[in-house]
Amino acid sequence: MWPYFPELLAVPVPRYTSYPTAAEFQDGFGDADGANALAQVRSSASLYIHIPYCEKICWYCGCNTGAAGRTSRLNAYLTALDAELELVAARLAAQGAQRDLARISFGGGSPNAITPLAFVRLLDRIVTAFGSILPHISVELDPRGFTSHWAGMLGSIGVAQVSFGVQTLADHVQARIGRVQPRATIAQGVEMLRAAAIPSINFDLMYGLPGQTLGDLIETLDGACAMRPERIALFGYAHVPDMFARQRRIDASDLPDAALRFQMAAEGNAFLLAAGYVPVGFDHFALPHDPLAKAATSGQLRRNFQGFTDDSADVLIGVGASAISIFPDILLQNEKNAGRYRMRVTGGQLASARGVRRDADDAIRAKIIEDILCLRASDLSRLDEWQALADALHPFVERGLAQLDGAVLSPTRDSAPYARGMAVLFDRHRRTSARQFSQAV
Ligand code: SF4
Repeated sequence: MWPYFPELLAVPVPRYTSYPTAAEFQDGFGDADGANALAQVRSSASLYIHIPYCEKICWYCGCNTGAAGRTSRLNAYLTALDAELELVAARLAAQGAQRDLARISFGGGSPNAITPLAFVRLLDRIVTAFGSILPHISVELDPRGFTSHWAGMLGSIGVAQVSFGVQTLADHVQARIGRVQPRATIAQGVEMLRAAAIPSINFDLMYGLPGQTLGDLIETLDGACAMRPERIALFGYAHVPDMFARQRRIDASDLPDAALRFQMAAEGNAFLLAAGYVPVGFDHFALPHDPLAKAATSGQLRRNFQGFTDDSADVLIGVGASAISIFPDILLQNEKNAGRYRMRVTGGQLASARGVRRDADDAIRAKIIEDILCLRASDLSRLDEWQALADALHPFVERGLAQLDGAVLSPTRDSAPYARGMAVLFDRHRRTSARQFSQAV
């Protein structure tokens, strides 16, 4: 079981799905920045498509999404996606840049807020615009409203990986977070996906939810493992109602305290390892045959806006309102507002609106932070100030959470809950920022 050192978990820390984090993004980026970044693409890139709509909005959600509502609104958004895809593909082609797609990921929101037919049409537009053969495709799904039509379509186009938003199987906790989805709904969804021969299913689960007990969590993990998803992500709920107004519907007095949150994370980790899952980074798990587990054990694991991934592409092009693109020397975020996003792309402009440039120092820090979060050894000597940072790591080293051999930092297996606390030491932006982040556990 993980050792508990509350003094090392006291400071809120970023989740580091990028470095610099999205908190460092500034306004003032635009079409020219997107075009310049696309012109530099020389290797195979991956594509992320954001669909910011859901059938029902969950109270805990921190995503950029809204109620699907009228069909006309969805159709207008899909038309805008088509326009942006054409723009991106044309800019790549004009520069003679690489257009092969390594992967396409659909997220949101809930991609299954649109119809299966609309989804197939969207995929067809992507393949046509980029001229690529069908790459590895992954899709986030809401089990509520998931249908056999959807499952059959996903199987017929050869989707490799899907993710179900499960969160908890405890009825009383579901009621407290505004996401009621009976266990039978999830089990039926899994059956449909299995029948459609989808090779890898992920469950997103949460601890630290209102009214959730340790028993609730273990019972949920037990029920989830019985359905044998290839992957499980076990996140701690981050209650930041000042940032996400919808979270104000959650009764904060009902939330587990820090000690119970840690116990949940630790016992959840132990439960999943005993159930045969391999730890992946600090909060993901996968069955040994799954590509994500293989990436973790072979040192190939990566971290990006989608969490831990086995996608090795260095460029991720985000398409859709609020989507973030990762290029080696710049991170760019599209216009968040769906209306303004539509106006930009249908007017022939790339939708980049915010971002941050990355220099050589950022690249070194990004690699060290990614290594720590992936719980693998990292060479700190690439940073001039590494010896001072090695001193700052002392509280972790003396508690057996990491080893330092010269300039090589090796997190130990028990360091998962402390990984973000170590990573933040290498973040030059966090020394001055008091911005709100989530608890490390
Ligand atoms: S289904 Fe997912 S994206 Fe949509 S509101 Fe719920 S948590 Fe957020």
